[in-house]
Amino acid sequence: MEYKEESRLCIVIIPKTQKVKRIVIPDWLPKFILGLTMTIAFLLVFSYSKITAFTNSLQVENLDKNSTKYILEEELANLEIISKEKDKIISKLEANVVDTQEKIDEVDNIFMDVERLQKQLEKKAGITTASRSNSIGRRTDLETLETDESLEALKEILDEKEQELEKFIVEIDNRFKYLESVPNLWPAQGRLTSRYGNRKNPFGRGTRFHKGIDIANSYGTSIKAAGSGTVTFSGTRSGYGRVVIIKHNSEYETLYAHNSQNLVKIGDKVEKGQAIAKMGSTGRSTGCHLHFEIHKNGKTINPLTVLNK
Ligand SMILES: [Zn+2]
Repeated sequence: MEYKEESRLCIVIIPKTQKVKRIVIPDWLPKFILGLTMTIAFLLVFSYSKITAFTNSLQVENLDKNSTKYILEEELANLEIISKEKDKIISKLEANVVDTQEKIDEVDNIFMDVERLQKQLEKKAGITTASRSNSIGRRTDLETLETDESLEALKEILDEKEQELEKFIVEIDNRFKYLESVPNLWPAQGRLTSRYGNRKNPFGRGTRFHKGIDIANSYGTSIKAAGSGTVTFSGTRSGYGRVVIIKHNSEYETLYAHNSQNLVKIGDKVEKGQAIAKMGSTGRSTGCHLHFEIHKNGKTINPLTVLNK
């Protein structure tokens, strides 16, 4: 219960058993309390909204963090996929390297076989070609190279080897051609009846220089080219009767005389062992035989020094 004085408020509390109590308060106090209450209420509301906003922002931030995390996880997954792909590619490349190395080893083995053959051929042909130390394995340590590089290096070596072999083939071919042209094949079967050099003149007195060898056999026995070459003469010459002359190379010429028949003509290319005439006794001859001469650099030499033993 209360009553109002001029500028004061008087609050009277009347308990049931005790004396009435009277509290006098200034009249601004309720207004102040109300104001304070309202202020507090306002502050509370304001704070709440602030807190809510902050909480919301925290939640948003959290969401952001979550989404960022999600994105990161996604990216990580992508990276893992890429990494796996990379691993695949790397293992593929490594497989290629192994593959390449196997090919290199294979090629190297072939090269070693080729070199062995090359050496055998050189020995047989009596020639030496340019040094061939370019075996792949020995020259290039391809294991230390990248696949592309080793493939390039392999290609380069293969090209080099190819050129080298081509050169060798040309050299060996030339050598074989030369060996084929050397007149070392016996031109006829038969008995050696007269040797090269001074001998008693079969047609008169004294001695006469015999410029070749005589091989005797039956009439018509096949006469063969002692080496490959070109026929430079096929006809009749005084004393020689029917005669064939073959030029073999820059060094050697051979002459086949007293033939009953010539089987080749001037300009013919002949192989070693090819039949070129038939044995007879034409010209200045004492019986059926072949008179055979070898000329080296324009001069007669002893055929027995060239003919196969
Ligand atoms: Zn003779």
